[in-house]
Amino acid sequence: MPDDIHSFIDKKRTLLGATATFVYLVAVSLIILVVWSVWQTRVQTIAESKSTTTNMARALAQHAQDAIRSADNLLVGMAELVEEQRHLHDAGAQNLHAYLRARIENQAMLAGLSVYDAQGTLVATSRPAPVRHVTITDRPYFQYHREVAERGPHVGAPIQSRVTNEWVVPVTRRLTDAQGRFAGLVLASVHVAYFGDYYAEFDIGQAGTIFLTTDDGTLLVRRAQEEVGVGTDISHGPVFNEYRHRGPVGTAMLTSRLDNTERLYSYRHLDTYPLLVAVALSKEDILSTWTAQTYHLTSITAFLLLLLGIIGFRLIFQINARDAAEYELLLAKEQLEKLNADLENLASIDGLTGLPNRRKFDAALALEFSRAARNASSIALIMIDVDRFKQFNDLYGHPEGDACLRQIGRVLLEQGAGRAADLPARYGGEEMVVLLPDTDLAGALAVAEKIRLAIRGLGIPHSAVPSGVVTVSAGVAACIPTGTHTAAQLLKAADEALYAAKAAGRDRVCCSAAETLSS
Ligand code: GH3
Ligand code: MG
Ligand code: MG
Repeated sequence: MPDDIHSFIDKKRTLLGATATFVYLVAVSLIILVVWSVWQTRVQTIAESKSTTTNMARALAQHAQDAIRSADNLLVGMAELVEEQRHLHDAGAQNLHAYLRARIENQAMLAGLSVYDAQGTLVATSRPAPVRHVTITDRPYFQYHREVAERGPHVGAPIQSRVTNEWVVPVTRRLTDAQGRFAGLVLASVHVAYFGDYYAEFDIGQAGTIFLTTDDGTLLVRRAQEEVGVGTDISHGPVFNEYRHRGPVGTAMLTSRLDNTERLYSYRHLDTYPLLVAVALSKEDILSTWTAQTYHLTSITAFLLLLLGIIGFRLIFQINARDAAEYELLLAKEQLEKLNADLENLASIDGLTGLPNRRKFDAALALEFSRAARNASSIALIMIDVDRFKQFNDLYGHPEGDACLRQIGRVLLEQGAGRAADLPARYGGEEMVVLLPDTDLAGALAVAEKIRLAIRGLGIPHSAVPSGVVTVSAGVAACIPTGTHTAAQLLKAADEALYAAKAAGRDRVCCSAAETLSS
């Protein structure tokens, strides 16, 4: 395959490869960019939500802390008063009732304040109704204070009030007598609804949750889509698991065991009370905007990729089409050049003998002669003429004469072109020449003799010559051209030598006398 077609195919491959690589790189970069930005937005959204839930947990913990502390402050005052008076069953009880009623005013969070003796019998209450016979020996907080000699505040599991039926959180303190023995307890009942109302004010989305529990896992209040009863034990849930392993404050993405929802939870243990508050936003809520944006971005990206694909495909298609046209053109050019070369060849070849023709010979002679002059090398010429050929034609017919010339042509091609620069040619009619550059007279004579013998050796019958077969006569001339020599002189000298060969009886080789050339 010609070089320019090779280079064309290489160029085409390179261009197509570069185009495909470019389209591919743009597509991959786009995908990487989109994935990266989507991921970054997600990470950022979750980080922002973490800070939101952490702040909310702090506010909620503070609220619960304040509420319990207010209740506990009242308990401290009540306990001091009761322990000082020591006479619970007479007029003192009336005073106590008035005291409790005064204390509970403006305390919206409190359902009631009460005092119980060591037998668990109600001694005084903040309620307006007269004291009925109520005992609380079955309440866990009563049993706790009876057993544990601990003076600090106690926050119990939520209970349903025996008076109002509403859920309250009991905050209690132990009472002791002068000897330090158990003498009953003071109780502040905190409305569970007080927390619920506060939690309702927070924007926690569709599936968010807020809850308050004792630190052993008993649920006090929970705000969520699905209500889970107050008093439920959630100590084996994921938030408590996290609390046990990571300490009093934390934030984590967890799946609730109560409703199987994945949420970002922030929890916090109260500083001074055995309570834990937690707030959570559902992952779905947190990521809803992000999800919508991601859908949007993905659709746009897919559209862009499609567009890129179409453009890339069209580009490659067009490059291919253009290359195909260019390739056709190149092929046509190649064919034309080959045709031209064939034509050129044809124009310099003799149709009958297949030898180079006179035109070709003239051009070669001029070229080689001046080259020989430049190089001061010898150049030789053999001129050959068939003997009595006119008679051959007359005897055997013109077509036979043509066939004879073809055979002689073959001999010349074989014997007269020993070197690349040697040029046998048909000079005209039945006359042939052999141009021998870089050859002296002796060398040319040898070639001429070889040709003569070879033609004779063909053994073409010719009854009009003494040998009985076709023979040729040849004239040879050679020279090292000097400034005065011309190619025409060399030609003339060879022709004269040929004439001499004819005159000397034909079927022989003669060379021209040196003086002929120099004359
Ligand atoms: P001589 O030995 O002196 O050369 O005798 P001759 O008959 O060969 O004389 P001459 O060279 O003058 O004759 C040339 C003849 O060659 C004339 C012509 O009939 C014949 N001839 C020339 N060209 C062709 C050709 O292409 N085909 C055929 N068949 N004959 C040709
Ligand atoms: Mg002749
Ligand atoms: Mg002749």
